[in-house]
Amino acid sequence: MTVTKGKSTTEKPSIKDKSSVKKPAKTAKSGKAKQVKPDELDTNSAVNQSTLEVVGSNHDCDPCETLAAKFKRQIHGSLCRDEHAINDMYSALASTVKNQLLNQWRETRLKDNQYQQKQVAYLSLEFLMGRSLGNALLSLDLTKETHEALAEYAADLESLQEAELDAGLGNGGLGRLAACFLDSCASLDLSVVGYGIRYEYGMFKQKLVDGYQVEQPDRWLREGNPWEVRMANHAITVPFFGHTETYVDPSGNRHYVWVDTQDVQAIPHDMPVPGFRNGRINTLRLWKAEATDDFDLAEFNDGDYTEAVARKNLAEQITMVLYPNDASENGKELRLRQQYFLSSASLQDILQRYTAVYGADFSQFSQRNVMQLNDTHPSIAVPELMRLLMDSYGLGWDEAWQVTTESMAYTNHTLLPEALERWPVRMLGNMLPRILDIIYEINARYLEHVAHHWPGDTHKLASMSIIEEGAHPHVRMAYLAIVASFSVNGVAGLHTQLLKQGLFKDFYSLWPHKFNNKTNGVTPRRWLVHCNPRLTQLINRRLGESWLTDLTQLTALNAFTDDKTFVKQWQQVKYDNKVELAKLVLDECEVAFEPNMMFDVQVKRIHEYKRQLLNILHVIHLYQRILSGDTKDLQPRCVLIGGKAAPGYAMAKQIIKLANNVAHMVNSDPIVSPYLRFAFLPNYNVSAMEKICPGTDLSEQISTAGKEASGTGNMKFMMNGAMTIGTFDGANIEMLEEVGEENFFLFGLRADEVSELKSHYNPHDFIQQSPALANVINMLKSGHFNLVEPGIFDSIIAAIEDPFDQWMIAADFEAYKQAQEKVSLAYADQQGWTQMSIRNTASSGRFSSDNTISAYRDDIWLAKQ
Ligand SMILES: *Cc1c(COP(=O)(O)O)cnc(C)c1O
Repeated sequence: MTVTKGKSTTEKPSIKDKSSVKKPAKTAKSGKAKQVKPDELDTNSAVNQSTLEVVGSNHDCDPCETLAAKFKRQIHGSLCRDEHAINDMYSALASTVKNQLLNQWRETRLKDNQYQQKQVAYLSLEFLMGRSLGNALLSLDLTKETHEALAEYAADLESLQEAELDAGLGNGGLGRLAACFLDSCASLDLSVVGYGIRYEYGMFKQKLVDGYQVEQPDRWLREGNPWEVRMANHAITVPFFGHTETYVDPSGNRHYVWVDTQDVQAIPHDMPVPGFRNGRINTLRLWKAEATDDFDLAEFNDGDYTEAVARKNLAEQITMVLYPNDASENGKELRLRQQYFLSSASLQDILQRYTAVYGADFSQFSQRNVMQLNDTHPSIAVPELMRLLMDSYGLGWDEAWQVTTESMAYTNHTLLPEALERWPVRMLGNMLPRILDIIYEINARYLEHVAHHWPGDTHKLASMSIIEEGAHPHVRMAYLAIVASFSVNGVAGLHTQLLKQGLFKDFYSLWPHKFNNKTNGVTPRRWLVHCNPRLTQLINRRLGESWLTDLTQLTALNAFTDDKTFVKQWQQVKYDNKVELAKLVLDECEVAFEPNMMFDVQVKRIHEYKRQLLNILHVIHLYQRILSGDTKDLQPRCVLIGGKAAPGYAMAKQIIKLANNVAHMVNSDPIVSPYLRFAFLPNYNVSAMEKICPGTDLSEQISTAGKEASGTGNMKFMMNGAMTIGTFDGANIEMLEEVGEENFFLFGLRADEVSELKSHYNPHDFIQQSPALANVINMLKSGHFNLVEPGIFDSIIAAIEDPFDQWMIAADFEAYKQAQEKVSLAYADQQGWTQMSIRNTASSGRFSSDNTISAYRDDIWLAKQ
């Protein structure tokens, strides 16, 4: 039995001999927890489902009934709803489709619970799923049927799709990667469960007020979520706080018990992840925190009802909100609670499933299970698995350590020091006392290994210790993850190389075999087929449809670059997509984009390392050229920037304000508008990107070299036939390798040049050598863009002129400007541009996440250790 106890528990832990401990774990509330069969899928649980769902879900398994009939029944079943309200129609359609896939979903789960193949758990604090409807219809091949089902209604499928709110359970690239991976895993017929958190509030909604970002809560569950199935009888108990006690059993073995814990219930909410037309439906299991029932009762018996309710809120706070920080950690206690909550609930779930088949024989565990940690966010799973194996299942340390280190794999996503997670020992010890004990023990044993490898080197012991000593000691989560994982991977070639040479150098020399690269990818289903139906049809007409599951087949498009008809058609597709993007920009920004102009786009989180500022400076440069009449060879452009800033990131927010002020000046001058238009798109998210990347001519991937681990936005644009202007960074390097330098606008310092320049960087040298940059900075200083808001851009100007500007804006400006001139010249030759566009799509096959996931499967998940 487990050792976690409810707060009210006062009795001493009972002493058990080891043999009686070898039973499948029950939750701390084992007396009351229902024993559930692992194959159960309680689709009838109505707790958070709409009236519509309950009425309509009774006969949905009839395979003969058409989708149209089911939809009609669903609509008519929604008694108090308006059958013409778009939102209600969307919900009815989504429920119909969800119900349609329940049988396949159940079958997949039954099969997987028998361990017919190795079970992969993808643990991630973020899953940036976006919308589900279009993707589900595509995967299940139901798009045509759905059109027919809607024929008799006023609303069309497109407007129903627009009614779906994004599942924005992530910040940016890392969370979207998890979503693309789930799609590829299902499509490759891999048994993978995504484990995450069901945040009540996802990524905030970005509004602009006077050009400033204003955050608004994202209540994405407001109207219910027709895709989720609440699995209340699979709830898991997660302990917090309390303290540890030890005792020695009659055979002399020491045991640890974590007592007086405050327990929180983790309720699974499952979302289907359909594979592409292969019958597999995987699961994204999102945990919701709820107070335990008897937790309340205990307080109530003490007579303190209001305290009980307040505590209930405290428990439910855990899954209330996604932390909106991309590439920086914030050290908040609630965030650690989220991480442990996810890790513990998921591992208990995995262990329950395993022991249901194999009992307490853990010799098979690592052959049957692997846990992939998406960054260090879930790395507290390492000591948690040790705890569960030892304290709940009675394994000894060595046995538990072997199981743990053979089943954990860690993906690193960043080299930025501000993003590396470190938890204060004091906070961790208070919240998770048993876990801290285990971390100390892991560290002690591991440091012996370090001492053996570097005899007498005390500096190494300190620098490599999982515990960072000092006045306020911290736990270095990345070190913990590396020590306990059999695989450590970076997310692009350069990134992995820099990890091995820099941040994790010593670990690499200790365990070179652990390190490997897995270049990121994106799913071609969402990022080409679903988002760009015009291009898909054009490709289908030439290549058939088999490229959908083997994107490398797109190289066959290279044969058509001299085919005049094909080039014309390709141009027409891009034009039509630009018309649609222009509509979005007009609606959202009130700026008129002209489809005959070049669409130059940079959308991603706002961060200094991504250098939106460099882009804005270039816009100012173009603006100055136009004002001075220097318009020769100047290709008319519409520049779009979009992205959210972390709410506490002042500089990023200033950059948004600058973009908006510059846009205002650019767009209000009729002399400028034939050549240049500039807009900042608010609330960039997945569904916006689905409209943006098909209509983009030029993709901006201009991070300071060495700072962008991989990038995935770059890949989506490439797939959709955009040209890239980019630095030698992240996956840009591999894109360049695939498509060739003649089809890519490369510029700027290399990573090694950036680090070399750092020690003697003087921005003023670069400003002096570039009259264009000097003019831009002078105009900024003159207050031209902030006439009624004096001084607001001083910090930005100072950052550019700062010799410690680690993003090296000034150093790369001139090269960037020149690369942009080459872009303009190239764009003037529309035929040549289109040929390059075709070559970009043709060369994008390597960046399908199917390819990435095949490599995870072969090298990490199924690799023999
Ligand atoms: C792809 C994607 C990202 C990642 O973009 P990068 O340019 O790689 O930083 C971020 N947010 C959303 C909504 C995306 O679709």
